[in-house]
Amino acid sequence: MKKQDIMSRLPVFEPGHVWLVGAGPGDPGLLTLHAANAIRQADVIVYDALVNDEILDLAADGVTLHYAGKRGGKPSPKQRDISIRLVEFAREKKRVLRLKGGDPFVFGRGGEEALTLVEHGIPFRIVPGISAGIGGLAYAGIPVTHRDINHSVTFLTGHDASGLVPDAVDWESVSKGSPVLVMYMAMKHWANIRDRLLAAGRDVNQPMAFVCEATTDNQRVLETTIGNSLQDLEASGIKPPAIVVVGEAVRLRKALDWLGAREGRSLMPDPLGRNVDQNAG
Ligand code: SAH
Repeated sequence: MKKQDIMSRLPVFEPGHVWLVGAGPGDPGLLTLHAANAIRQADVIVYDALVNDEILDLAADGVTLHYAGKRGGKPSPKQRDISIRLVEFAREKKRVLRLKGGDPFVFGRGGEEALTLVEHGIPFRIVPGISAGIGGLAYAGIPVTHRDINHSVTFLTGHDASGLVPDAVDWESVSKGSPVLVMYMAMKHWANIRDRLLAAGRDVNQPMAFVCEATTDNQRVLETTIGNSLQDLEASGIKPPAIVVVGEAVRLRKALDWLGAREGRSLMPDPLGRNVDQNAG
Protein backbone atom coordinates (compact mmCIF):
# COMPACT_ATOMS: atom_id res chain seq x y z
CA MET A 1 0.00 0.00 0.00
CA LYS A 2 1.31 3.40 -0.92
CA LYS A 3 1.97 5.64 2.04
CA GLN A 4 -0.17 8.75 1.94
CA ASP A 5 1.67 12.03 2.17
CA ILE A 6 0.86 13.49 5.57
CA MET A 7 0.73 17.03 4.17
CA SER A 8 -2.12 16.07 1.84
CA ARG A 9 -4.19 14.92 4.79
CA LEU A 10 -3.90 18.21 6.66
CA PRO A 11 -7.04 20.37 6.82
CA VAL A 12 -8.18 22.66 4.04
CA PHE A 13 -8.29 26.32 5.10
CA GLU A 14 -11.79 27.51 4.30
CA PRO A 15 -12.58 31.11 3.32
CA GLY A 16 -14.13 33.05 6.17
CA HIS A 17 -12.31 31.03 8.83
CA VAL A 18 -9.66 32.25 11.26
CA TRP A 19 -6.83 29.99 12.39
CA LEU A 20 -4.96 31.04 15.53
CA VAL A 21 -1.57 29.48 15.10
CA GLY A 22 1.61 29.28 17.16
CA ALA A 23 4.77 29.82 15.10
CA GLY A 24 7.13 28.48 17.77
CA PRO A 25 10.02 30.43 19.26
CA GLY A 26 11.89 31.31 16.05
CA ASP A 27 13.64 28.46 14.27
CA PRO A 28 11.37 27.69 11.28
CA GLY A 29 12.11 23.99 11.83
CA LEU A 30 10.06 24.22 15.01
CA LEU A 31 6.85 25.05 13.14
CA THR A 32 4.25 22.29 13.35
CA LEU A 33 2.94 20.71 10.15
CA HIS A 34 -0.39 22.37 10.88
CA ALA A 35 1.34 25.75 11.09
CA ALA A 36 3.19 25.21 7.78
CA ASN A 37 -0.06 24.06 6.18
CA ALA A 38 -1.82 27.19 7.44
CA ILE A 39 0.90 29.53 6.18
CA ARG A 40 0.78 28.00 2.69
CA GLN A 41 -2.99 28.45 2.36
CA ALA A 42 -3.64 31.78 4.09
CA ASP A 43 -4.91 34.87 2.22
CA VAL A 44 -4.07 37.19 5.11
CA ILE A 45 -1.47 36.69 7.83
CA VAL A 46 -1.84 38.87 10.90
CA TYR A 47 1.46 38.50 12.74
CA ASP A 48 3.35 39.79 15.77
CA ALA A 49 6.85 41.16 16.33
CA LEU A 50 8.09 37.80 17.57
CA VAL A 51 7.33 35.98 14.31
CA ASN A 52 10.50 35.38 12.31
CA ASP A 53 10.72 36.74 8.71
CA GLU A 54 11.96 33.36 7.47
CA ILE A 55 8.64 31.92 8.57
CA LEU A 56 6.64 34.59 6.75
CA ASP A 57 8.67 33.80 3.61
CA LEU A 58 6.88 30.43 3.48
CA ALA A 59 3.62 32.20 2.60
CA ALA A 60 2.14 31.97 -0.90
CA ASP A 61 2.67 34.79 -3.40
CA GLY A 62 -0.05 37.38 -3.13
CA VAL A 63 -0.64 36.90 0.58
CA THR A 64 -1.47 40.03 2.56
CA LEU A 65 0.88 40.45 5.51
CA HIS A 66 -0.69 42.49 8.28
CA TYR A 67 1.59 43.53 11.11
CA ALA A 68 -0.05 43.70 14.53
CA GLY A 69 2.89 44.52 16.78
CA LYS A 70 4.76 47.51 18.04
CA ARG A 71 6.97 49.24 15.48
CA GLY A 72 9.19 52.31 15.39
CA GLY A 73 8.36 53.40 18.91
CA LYS A 74 4.65 53.70 18.09
CA PRO A 75 2.29 52.15 20.60
CA SER A 76 1.07 48.69 19.69
CA PRO A 77 -2.46 48.38 18.33
CA LYS A 78 -5.07 47.79 20.99
CA GLN A 79 -5.87 44.13 21.58
CA ARG A 80 -9.54 44.73 20.87
CA ASP A 81 -8.67 46.36 17.51
CA ILE A 82 -6.61 43.35 16.45
CA SER A 83 -9.42 40.98 17.34
CA ILE A 84 -11.91 43.09 15.40
CA ARG A 85 -9.59 43.14 12.35
CA LEU A 86 -9.65 39.34 12.41
CA VAL A 87 -13.45 39.41 12.38
CA GLU A 88 -13.49 41.91 9.49
CA PHE A 89 -11.04 39.89 7.37
CA ALA A 90 -13.10 36.75 7.98
CA ARG A 91 -16.29 38.56 6.91
CA GLU A 92 -14.49 39.49 3.67
CA LYS A 93 -14.27 35.70 3.13
CA LYS A 94 -10.51 35.65 3.55
CA ARG A 95 -8.59 32.69 4.97
CA VAL A 96 -7.26 34.52 8.01
CA LEU A 97 -4.14 33.29 9.75
CA ARG A 98 -3.41 34.85 13.11
CA LEU A 99 0.23 33.90 13.61
CA LYS A 100 1.76 34.31 17.04
CA GLY A 101 5.18 33.62 18.53
CA GLY A 102 5.46 30.43 20.56
CA ASP A 103 2.10 29.04 21.57
CA PRO A 104 -1.01 31.20 21.13
CA PHE A 105 -2.42 30.21 24.52
CA VAL A 106 0.77 30.81 26.53
CA PHE A 107 0.96 34.49 27.48
CA GLY A 108 -0.12 35.15 23.91
CA ARG A 109 -3.66 36.52 24.30
CA GLY A 110 -4.88 33.81 21.96
CA GLY A 111 -7.76 33.15 24.31
CA GLU A 112 -8.92 36.77 24.15
CA GLU A 113 -8.84 36.79 20.36
CA ALA A 114 -10.66 33.48 20.15
CA LEU A 115 -13.37 34.80 22.50
CA THR A 116 -13.98 37.73 20.13
CA LEU A 117 -14.31 35.27 17.24
CA VAL A 118 -16.90 33.29 19.20
CA GLU A 119 -18.77 36.48 20.05
CA HIS A 120 -19.05 37.26 16.32
CA GLY A 121 -19.81 33.71 15.18
CA ILE A 122 -16.57 33.31 13.19
CA PRO A 123 -15.41 29.69 12.79
CA PHE A 124 -11.88 29.11 13.99
CA ARG A 125 -9.15 26.56 14.68
CA ILE A 126 -6.36 26.67 17.27
CA VAL A 127 -2.92 25.33 16.39
CA PRO A 128 -0.62 25.09 19.39
CA GLY A 129 3.05 25.92 19.01
CA ILE A 130 6.27 25.27 20.86
CA SER A 131 6.43 27.84 23.61
CA ALA A 132 9.66 29.79 24.18
CA GLY A 133 9.68 28.76 27.83
CA ILE A 134 10.04 25.10 26.84
CA GLY A 135 11.56 24.99 23.35
CA GLY A 136 13.77 28.02 23.91
CA LEU A 137 15.23 26.47 27.02
CA ALA A 138 15.77 23.16 25.19
CA TYR A 139 17.94 25.05 22.68
CA ALA A 140 19.95 26.35 25.64
CA GLY A 141 20.37 22.80 26.99
CA ILE A 142 18.10 23.40 29.98
CA PRO A 143 15.35 20.81 30.58
CA VAL A 144 12.32 22.33 32.32
CA THR A 145 11.94 19.16 34.37
CA HIS A 146 14.55 16.63 35.43
CA ARG A 147 13.78 13.75 37.76
CA ASP A 148 16.58 14.54 40.16
CA ILE A 149 15.71 18.20 40.41
CA ASN A 150 12.06 19.08 40.07
CA HIS A 151 8.64 17.51 39.86
CA SER A 152 6.95 20.79 39.09
CA VAL A 153 7.71 23.90 37.11
CA THR A 154 6.02 27.28 37.15
CA PHE A 155 5.53 29.49 34.11
CA LEU A 156 5.12 33.14 34.98
CA THR A 157 4.79 36.50 33.32
CA GLY A 158 7.03 39.29 34.55
CA HIS A 159 4.57 42.03 33.73
CA ASP A 160 0.84 42.44 33.66
CA ALA A 161 -1.50 44.32 31.31
CA SER A 162 -0.43 47.65 32.81
CA GLY A 163 3.26 46.82 32.26
CA LEU A 164 4.03 46.47 35.96
CA VAL A 165 5.28 43.46 37.90
CA PRO A 166 2.03 41.53 38.35
CA ASP A 167 0.65 41.64 41.87
CA ALA A 168 -1.65 38.81 40.85
CA VAL A 169 1.40 36.55 41.12
CA ASP A 170 1.93 35.36 44.67
CA TRP A 171 5.71 35.81 44.51
CA GLU A 172 6.28 34.50 47.97
CA SER A 173 4.50 31.16 47.37
CA VAL A 174 6.06 30.77 43.96
CA SER A 175 9.51 31.47 45.29
CA LYS A 176 9.11 29.01 48.15
CA GLY A 177 7.11 26.34 46.38
CA SER A 178 8.42 26.02 42.86
CA PRO A 179 11.90 24.59 42.25
CA VAL A 180 12.07 25.88 38.69
CA LEU A 181 10.64 29.21 37.57
CA VAL A 182 10.34 30.02 33.88
CA MET A 183 9.55 33.67 33.30
CA TYR A 184 8.27 35.41 30.19
CA MET A 185 8.52 39.20 29.79
CA ALA A 186 10.61 39.40 32.93
CA MET A 187 13.62 41.38 31.69
CA LYS A 188 12.27 44.89 32.17
CA HIS A 189 11.45 44.36 35.81
CA TRP A 190 14.13 41.79 36.61
CA ALA A 191 15.65 43.84 39.45
CA ASN A 192 12.28 44.07 41.14
CA ILE A 193 11.40 40.39 40.59
CA ARG A 194 14.81 39.34 41.88
CA ASP A 195 14.24 41.36 45.07
CA ARG A 196 10.88 39.70 45.59
CA LEU A 197 12.34 36.23 45.16
CA LEU A 198 15.18 36.95 47.58
CA ALA A 199 12.80 38.53 50.09
CA ALA A 200 10.82 35.29 50.02
CA GLY A 201 13.96 33.34 50.89
CA ARG A 202 15.16 32.10 47.51
CA ASP A 203 18.85 31.17 47.72
CA VAL A 204 21.02 33.98 46.40
CA ASN A 205 23.46 31.40 44.98
CA GLN A 206 20.86 29.53 42.98
CA PRO A 207 21.79 29.22 39.31
CA MET A 208 19.73 30.98 36.71
CA ALA A 209 19.93 31.88 33.04
CA PHE A 210 18.71 34.43 30.53
CA VAL A 211 18.02 32.95 27.11
CA CYS A 212 17.71 35.68 24.54
CA GLU A 213 16.26 35.27 21.01
CA ALA A 214 16.15 31.57 21.68
CA THR A 215 16.28 29.16 18.72
CA THR A 216 17.20 31.93 16.27
CA ASP A 217 20.64 32.54 14.75
CA ASN A 218 21.04 35.29 17.35
CA GLN A 219 20.44 33.12 20.38
CA ARG A 220 22.48 34.18 23.41
CA VAL A 221 22.54 32.59 26.83
CA LEU A 222 23.79 34.10 30.05
CA GLU A 223 24.30 31.68 32.94
CA THR A 224 24.60 33.36 36.31
CA THR A 225 23.23 33.20 39.85
CA ILE A 226 20.40 35.20 41.36
CA GLY A 227 22.98 37.14 43.37
CA ASN A 228 25.18 38.06 40.41
CA SER A 229 22.41 38.46 37.89
CA LEU A 230 22.13 42.24 37.79
CA GLN A 231 25.79 42.96 37.20
CA ASP A 232 26.21 40.01 34.80
CA LEU A 233 23.16 41.06 32.85
CA GLU A 234 24.42 44.58 32.48
CA ALA A 235 27.88 43.40 31.41
CA SER A 236 26.43 40.96 28.86
CA GLY A 237 24.30 43.51 27.03
CA ILE A 238 21.59 40.87 26.66
CA LYS A 239 18.24 42.35 25.68
CA PRO A 240 14.66 41.14 25.38
CA PRO A 241 13.05 38.99 24.13
CA ALA A 242 14.42 36.58 26.66
CA ILE A 243 13.26 33.77 28.86
CA VAL A 244 14.45 34.00 32.43
CA VAL A 245 14.86 30.68 34.21
CA VAL A 246 15.70 30.20 37.87
CA GLY A 247 16.54 26.85 39.44
CA GLU A 248 19.01 23.99 39.75
CA ALA A 249 17.94 22.74 36.31
CA VAL A 250 20.19 25.43 34.85
CA ARG A 251 23.23 23.38 35.96
CA LEU A 252 22.37 20.75 33.37
CA ARG A 253 23.36 23.16 30.63
CA LYS A 254 26.99 22.30 31.40
CA ALA A 255 26.24 18.84 30.03
CA LEU A 256 23.40 19.50 27.63
CA ASP A 257 24.43 22.60 25.69
CA TRP A 258 24.22 20.69 22.41
CA LEU A 259 24.36 23.87 20.33
CA GLY A 260 27.53 24.96 22.12
CA ALA A 261 29.02 21.49 21.60
CA ARG A 262 28.57 21.91 17.85
CA GLU A 263 30.67 25.05 18.13
CA GLY A 264 33.40 23.26 20.10
CA ARG A 265 32.32 23.74 23.71
CA SER A 266 33.19 20.66 25.77
CA LEU A 267 30.37 19.13 27.74
CA MET A 268 30.64 18.08 31.37
CA PRO A 269 29.12 14.57 31.71
CA ASP A 270 27.91 14.81 35.31
CA PRO A 271 27.00 18.43 36.06
CA LEU A 272 25.00 17.56 39.18
CA GLY A 273 27.89 15.52 40.56
CA ARG A 274 25.54 12.70 41.42
CA ASN A 275 26.03 10.02 38.78
CA VAL A 276 22.35 10.35 38.02
CA ASP A 277 21.97 7.14 35.99
CA GLN A 278 23.22 4.86 38.73
CA ASN A 279 20.35 5.97 40.92
CA ALA A 280 17.73 5.08 38.33
CA GLY A 281 14.89 2.87 39.35
N1 SAH B 1 3.23 32.99 23.20
C1 SAH B 1 4.66 33.11 23.41
C2 SAH B 1 4.99 34.09 24.51
C3 SAH B 1 4.57 35.50 24.21
S1 SAH B 1 4.99 36.62 25.50
C4 SAH B 1 5.25 31.73 23.67
O1 SAH B 1 4.50 30.78 23.92
O2 SAH B 1 6.47 31.60 23.60
C5 SAH B 1 6.48 37.32 24.90
C6 SAH B 1 7.65 36.83 25.70
O3 SAH B 1 7.98 35.50 25.33
C7 SAH B 1 8.93 37.60 25.50
O4 SAH B 1 8.95 38.76 26.31
C8 SAH B 1 9.96 36.59 25.96
O5 SAH B 1 10.00 36.51 27.37
C9 SAH B 1 9.36 35.29 25.45
N2 SAH B 1 9.88 34.88 24.14
C10 SAH B 1 9.18 34.67 23.03
N3 SAH B 1 9.97 34.24 22.03
C11 SAH B 1 11.22 34.17 22.55
C12 SAH B 1 12.50 33.77 22.04
N4 SAH B 1 12.66 33.36 20.78
N5 SAH B 1 13.54 33.83 22.87
C13 SAH B 1 13.41 34.22 24.16
N6 SAH B 1 12.24 34.61 24.68
C14 SAH B 1 11.15 34.57 23.90
